Amino acid sequence: MLTALTKEGKVYNLAGCKDDYHLDNLKKKVQFYCPVCQEPVILRAGSQKIPHFSHQKSSNCASISEPESLRHMQGKKDLYLWLVNQRFKVYLERYLPRLKQRPDILFNKNGKWFAVEYQCSPISIKLLTQRTNGYAKHHISPIWIMGGYPFQHRKDAFFQLSDFHWSFIQASEKIGLTLFSYTPHSRYFHFLSNISPISSRKVQGTYTKISLDHMTFPILLSNTISQKQPINAYWFLQKRKWLQNKIIYSKAFQDPFLISLYECNSHPSLLPPVIGLPVDYMGVCKTHPVVWQFYIWHDCLRFLKTGDRMTFKQVRNAIESRKRSQHILFRCLPFVPTSYQNRMIYLYLQTLVHFSYLKEVKKGTFVLHKMITFPKNMEEALLFDKEFLHELDDK
Ligand SMILES: [Zn+2]
Repeated sequence: MLTALTKEGKVYNLAGCKDDYHLDNLKKKVQFYCPVCQEPVILRAGSQKIPHFSHQKSSNCASISEPESLRHMQGKKDLYLWLVNQRFKVYLERYLPRLKQRPDILFNKNGKWFAVEYQCSPISIKLLTQRTNGYAKHHISPIWIMGGYPFQHRKDAFFQLSDFHWSFIQASEKIGLTLFSYTPHSRYFHFLSNISPISSRKVQGTYTKISLDHMTFPILLSNTISQKQPINAYWFLQKRKWLQNKIIYSKAFQDPFLISLYECNSHPSLLPPVIGLPVDYMGVCKTHPVVWQFYIWHDCLRFLKTGDRMTFKQVRNAIESRKRSQHILFRCLPFVPTSYQNRMIYLYLQTLVHFSYLKEVKKGTFVLHKMITFPKNMEEALLFDKEFLHELDDK
């Protein structure tokens, strides 16, 4: 930690301290205490280190449940000084006894309180939610900043995300599903926006970084263009790959999606191009779009004749029921409102409107305009995909 108390109860903050001689003197002459447990703590400083306080090895203070990494300390220090420079009222590691929480940084902007949590190591979703709710209850807006990059690996425009990354995803109208982080060694904020999964771990997205010195609070991406999820030959290829794996690795008599598909006398290779389309916010759903879009057809659309009506509510109820039987799984994303699940479904129906399968006669009420036809053989399936992509180019 970067703060401790003196014997007189004064808060001592090491964040801005650069003077080695001064630190050496403090080390010899002043005894510091932990603000949480009141135990004596040791001032550690040296040429290789960020000056900080640490507990005795034997301590079981609640504030040291997780060992603090160098990255965490440096990041916290950078963000603290960054906020101080913007002339906010800023507190480092202030313990909030009523909440029993100690945010890395607490600050006030125009009468509004914010708590910065700079998180460098995985944290359970339960704890994440608990802390967020704790702040909300006391009218403090939490700002969770991930330590490190907003992805695990990167190859061209593809990124791999871990569960830790997924748990930090936020949603916004402007930039879709987004992750943001800070790396102290380069002093950059990183953004991965418009996140759209290709498989359970591989995603596409737009990566941007902005120097700490060029950013002021609130931390926002400016000048961004919302990108539509691309429907292209690459997506169709990936979809076929996914379906092939499904056939190989799933037990056909146990997999509810395959059972339903075979019961309709179809086959995973014989799905029409409009089943399994990418839509915005589809990352909120862990289940592949092929599956949930097939269920929309299976549970709602296939019963309709041209001219028949169907409401968004009916579709949503069908999805809810599939959710209950765990045929469709949504991701647990503590920072994304569940309303984005409905948005994703609604956007899919709008895609069907776009391709003239449905007509939206009034908001949330659709009429079947054209039946969705399933290809009869592999040749036809590939031809359907090709024609669909061709039509896309024309639109
Ligand atoms: Zn302590």
